[in-house]
Amino acid sequence: MNGTDYDLVIIGAGPAGMAAALYAGRARLSVLVLEKAAPGGQILVTDWIENYPGFSEGISGPDLMEQMLAQVKRFDVEIKSGEVVSMDISGPVKQLVLLDATITARAVIIATGTSFRKLGVPGENRYLGRGVSTCATCDAPFFKDSIVVAVGGGDTALQESIYLTRFVKKVYLVHRRDQLRAVKILQERAALNDKLEIVWDSTVTEIKGGSEGVEAVTVKNLKTGEAADIPAEGCFVWVGSLPNAGFAAGHMEMDGQGFIITDDRMRTNIPGVYAAGDVRNTPLRQVVTAVADGAVAASDVMHYLDNM
Ligand SMILES: Cc1cc2nc3c(=O)[nH]c(=O)nc-3n(C[C@H](O)[C@H](O)[C@H](O)COP(=O)(O)OP(=O)(O)OC[C@H]3O[C@@H](n4cnc5c(N)ncnc54)[C@H](O)[C@@H]3O)c2cc1C
Repeated sequence: MNGTDYDLVIIGAGPAGMAAALYAGRARLSVLVLEKAAPGGQILVTDWIENYPGFSEGISGPDLMEQMLAQVKRFDVEIKSGEVVSMDISGPVKQLVLLDATITARAVIIATGTSFRKLGVPGENRYLGRGVSTCATCDAPFFKDSIVVAVGGGDTALQESIYLTRFVKKVYLVHRRDQLRAVKILQERAALNDKLEIVWDSTVTEIKGGSEGVEAVTVKNLKTGEAADIPAEGCFVWVGSLPNAGFAAGHMEMDGQGFIITDDRMRTNIPGVYAAGDVRNTPLRQVVTAVADGAVAASDVMHYLDNM
């Protein structure tokens, strides 16, 4: 392996990392995928995906990931549990520092995705996991027949709020503007859903509760300035995402929000280092674009290694 542990290390086993592993594995590179949680990434918390081509009725996130994982495993790709915390990537041998080891590779693909952005209001941290959540698929059953507040206006906020209505009595979706950003088909479904009410032009300013968990969510109308408490047992927050790229900060070019900048072959400004999927500055953060990025990155890694 030319003095390194692997030809290629892929950081992150979400859709981008899985697609990169599939292409690199079939090219017979020695490949390691490092994943700090369970392989699958964000689609593990997605109830139903209906915009990934090839599944006419849609597919659940966990089922799609199981298929991706089984497909990758056919091609001798190693998948290990581990979190990359820092790196030295300036030379031809890339060093990735984990909590308990250092791994070397000739090329690296960063496919670490994003994490949910927080609201940053009082009560949010205190009640995280005790009424405050970012995962409807994980937590909706705990709120059976309850009233909950959701926050956001994009695809994820609407899709997940609609999913919540299968369990809860009522969802108040708080959105800071007077129109939603979400795709039209989701807006149409939301409009037809009696259990979903949108609270326009408003933000959440506080999450209140007691020792048992959340009891009310304070909502302020941005046009009138009026604030009121909505009695609720849960608050689901979907107000955007932040890149999981802290370990790479200072090592490569990033945009103002910390997303990694790549060219159209997924190359960063550091030779042999690539970024794919949601962690890069891409105009669309979806499974279909993440897997495409992974494939493009892995295929360019092959050219890079050939020319080394
Ligand atoms: C609730 C929800 C619903 C969605 N619905 C849809 C949908 O219907 N259709 C659609 O196309 N997309 C949907 N998406 C978006 C889609 O899930 C993402 O675009 C896609 O998962 C991005 O893939 P990725 O591989 O770039 O990142 P991720 O899926 O985020 O995977 C990144 C992986 O990297 C790991 N990781 C992070 N940091 C490190 C580190 N330092 N070391 C090691 N591992 C690390 C993470 O644990 C994670 O497993 C949804 C997302 C959410 C949250």
